[in-house]
Amino acid sequence: MSEYDFSRTIVELINNDTGLDESSLDLISRGEEFMFRLRREVEERIQLENPLYGCGSCGQPVVIRSRKFSQNTHSMYFKHMHKSGDCPIKTDSNYTREEVQCMKYNGAKESKAHIELKNYIASYLKYDTRFADVRVESVIKGSGWSKKWKKPDISATLDGRKVVFEIQLSTTFLDVIVKREMFYKDEGISIFWIFSDLSPESSRATEKDVFFNNKTNALSIDKDSIARSLDSGEIVFKGFYKKPVFDVTTNKIQEVWDSKLVGFDDIKFDSVSHKPYFVSFSELNEKAQKDKEAEKIRLPLKEFKRLIFDKDQPYTARTSCAKSLHKVGLYNGMDIYSDLLNLSKALMSIKDGVVHFQNQKDKWAWLVNYVWQHHKCYWLVLLYVVDTYGRADMVFNPANNKLQEKRKAFKNGFKRDPEFNQKTEYYPLFSAMFPEIGDKLKKLM
Ligand SMILES: [Zn+2]
Repeated sequence: MSEYDFSRTIVELINNDTGLDESSLDLISRGEEFMFRLRREVEERIQLENPLYGCGSCGQPVVIRSRKFSQNTHSMYFKHMHKSGDCPIKTDSNYTREEVQCMKYNGAKESKAHIELKNYIASYLKYDTRFADVRVESVIKGSGWSKKWKKPDISATLDGRKVVFEIQLSTTFLDVIVKREMFYKDEGISIFWIFSDLSPESSRATEKDVFFNNKTNALSIDKDSIARSLDSGEIVFKGFYKKPVFDVTTNKIQEVWDSKLVGFDDIKFDSVSHKPYFVSFSELNEKAQKDKEAEKIRLPLKEFKRLIFDKDQPYTARTSCAKSLHKVGLYNGMDIYSDLLNLSKALMSIKDGVVHFQNQKDKWAWLVNYVWQHHKCYWLVLLYVVDTYGRADMVFNPANNKLQEKRKAFKNGFKRDPEFNQKTEYYPLFSAMFPEIGDKLKKLM
């Protein structure tokens, strides 16, 4: 015969102090001495009308009972108190699974930790001028014909927008969560799910569901956020989010969890779901894609820049560079000719604020004339580079009338005069060399 009678115990318990789930099997397996002490504590807490453990299914207080099955051994188990109310795990129960979930959810809401957290948040909101009508556990009725209602932990208005806070300490309440999200969405109310001491890497599937439903943003309260709140006088959360990052070693975009402290000024709301978020996954994803793109072209560009600054590179270096630029979609020729290298050198000079041509130190008029005479079909790129890197006064000496006339002539004739027709062949390459003007050039391609 087994030392412990696992068959008759209530397995899932809720610890009313922490609000967390505990397994009675874990407790029982800690041995007889531990269990006798725990039983004493459980009894005392029931007498004080502040039970330590509730049944994980109905939340009603549970007691520990033992059965003697040999001279010196007892079998311990958790059970409902005598004359307890209906519970879904009782064999004659009338409750549906849905009702059980709601009961568990409401049971968890009565835990000490839950109440503390609720009061903690509400106390800040009441003194926060961005919030009004801060109410704890106030009923929200569905509008129109809806007979539904909900009692969120906290309800308020944030800059005129209706918001509610639901604290989520534990366990598997996915059904309840999804229902709540739908109700609030229908009512045009934004819902904040607040966790406690969250660590996404090790979190349960349910908590993850809330993240994913929330643009992978989750708000938690932990010692960092509490310290910052105290410091700043307004409530701050630890915000967790999933961040796509480009990993150079694997050449792949990977998603990692990251966190930062988040105040209400960082919160935005989705216009369709009304859900709050503080980090836009799609923006981060876009950035990761750009990083990936940049890494792809990094080496070919480096090769190209070497050619620009070292005229004595052999023919094979030029064709090999043309090939690698072609591979990443930046260039179409078989060779790289000196006119492209010189034009690129002129543009690089403007960006760097240094004339890179030999024996032409500070001769900006010379450089501009060179581009005007030999590369007028890329004049627009020159103007963009001058403008973007703030080089107008240096490159176009205001006292040099001839230069100023050229600028004016282009401005007036551009798009009308065939003399000023612009070529776009090198735009992909120039977009990569000067990412700041990339968007402008892409529009013209
Ligand atoms: Zn029960």
